[in-house]
Amino acid sequence: MEHRASAVATDPRRLVARTDAVLADPRLADAALRLGRDLVKSVVADAQQRVRSGEIEPGAVADAAVAALPDTSARLRPVVNATGVLLHTNLGRAPLSPAAMAALAAASGTTDVELDLATGQRSRRGRSALAALKAAVPAAEAAHVVNNGAAALVLAATALAAGKEIIVSRGEMVEIGDGFRIPDLLVSTGARLREVGTTNRTTRADYAAAVGPGTGFILKVHPSNFRITGFTRGADVGELRGLGAPVVADIGSGLLRAEPVLPDEPHAHGWLKAGADVVTASGDKLLGGPQCGLVLGRADLVRTLARHPLARALRVDKLTLAALEATLRGPRTPTHEALHAAPGVLRERAGRLADGLRADGIDARAVDCEAAVGGGGAPGVTLPSAAVSLPEAYAEALRGGRHAVLGRVEGGRCLLDLRTVPPEADTALTDAVRAATTTATPTTAATSAAASGTRAR
Ligand SMILES: *Cc1c(COP(=O)(O)O)cnc(C)c1O
Repeated sequence: MEHRASAVATDPRRLVARTDAVLADPRLADAALRLGRDLVKSVVADAQQRVRSGEIEPGAVADAAVAALPDTSARLRPVVNATGVLLHTNLGRAPLSPAAMAALAAASGTTDVELDLATGQRSRRGRSALAALKAAVPAAEAAHVVNNGAAALVLAATALAAGKEIIVSRGEMVEIGDGFRIPDLLVSTGARLREVGTTNRTTRADYAAAVGPGTGFILKVHPSNFRITGFTRGADVGELRGLGAPVVADIGSGLLRAEPVLPDEPHAHGWLKAGADVVTASGDKLLGGPQCGLVLGRADLVRTLARHPLARALRVDKLTLAALEATLRGPRTPTHEALHAAPGVLRERAGRLADGLRADGIDARAVDCEAAVGGGGAPGVTLPSAAVSLPEAYAEALRGGRHAVLGRVEGGRCLLDLRTVPPEADTALTDAVRAATTTATPTTAATSAAASGTRAR
């Protein structure tokens, strides 16, 4: 050892602390959890290099590495969605499947997004994602992808109805959230709106009377985020065909095929078969994919949209195409799993998690509750669910924790609804609850510390 120490003293490279030793610094260990070990290792490697070049003292490696860490205070942080709202717009709607995440990573470098590797020639951008989309919706002759559902509508309005009229029911003039309204969006393209019918009742005859030479298309909007009940009537998509104008249908929620759990939710295949010429939908709602807008339907109309100059401004990037394709081809999405989770299994998980927390002195119990689809989908549909119920103060403490968790407050309790929490996140969830306990209930924490001190190990 003495012998090596003297060798070290003569060779400056030997003075550089080993990576493992530097990574053991609590600040860097913590950063590795937040930022990933690879990133922190590369920062440490840079600092080690600066020691070798004599730029900094050997003892300053960890400090230099900490100083060089990227500032993450303004970064997006992962949040466990325990709200019971499957598609939570404030949480970025659908969580991607592991397959879609892997596709994102694979597509991050240079890819053949617009190249035919066999011929070396330019090819149709995103052709494999479009093929997957058409395979998923056999009734669609053609498909196109844009940035989001709103962009799909804007493109349809611009390409098919600028300077013309869009005929739409007064019952379907909806606001889609954050103050954005579909009628405003459509009018912004230079199309004129021709409102027909009344808020609660619109018939085929109302549409028929409005169609004329100045008609761009008839628009059917699925009012996805609210429901009018009582004395209501709307014309089905099927009733709108044959009126002498194309029918564009905005299903919003992104279901491509029938979903037994949501029998009243329209789906692209069904509406195209019923007579819609073009269907538009979002990719990050019930489809469970990345944010994007889907345009599906008649080949000539989809082509008109895809070739319009505006289409270039609404074009999706290679990452979106990769994630969309993986979503379509891949295993079931987290959104699908959440939609289909069996209430009995959720109840069993809630019981197990609550028992574990109670054993640590935390006021946790398993309760039955109701989850919702959200994100502008299936309004009025509730999904039987189960939650871990905690004192209300946990809501804030869990939001502010290192592994943020968003629950919902109901009846003076903080509910962690397990329908939207993937089972593999259960441990992270209970760890977060334990970590939040000091903030949420200082007295309980003290009691629990005392209790765990007396517990047999
Ligand atoms: C969600 C929704 C939109 C908007 O889609 P984005 O992908 O959020 O742009 C439009 N129409 C309907 C019916 C919707 O539900």
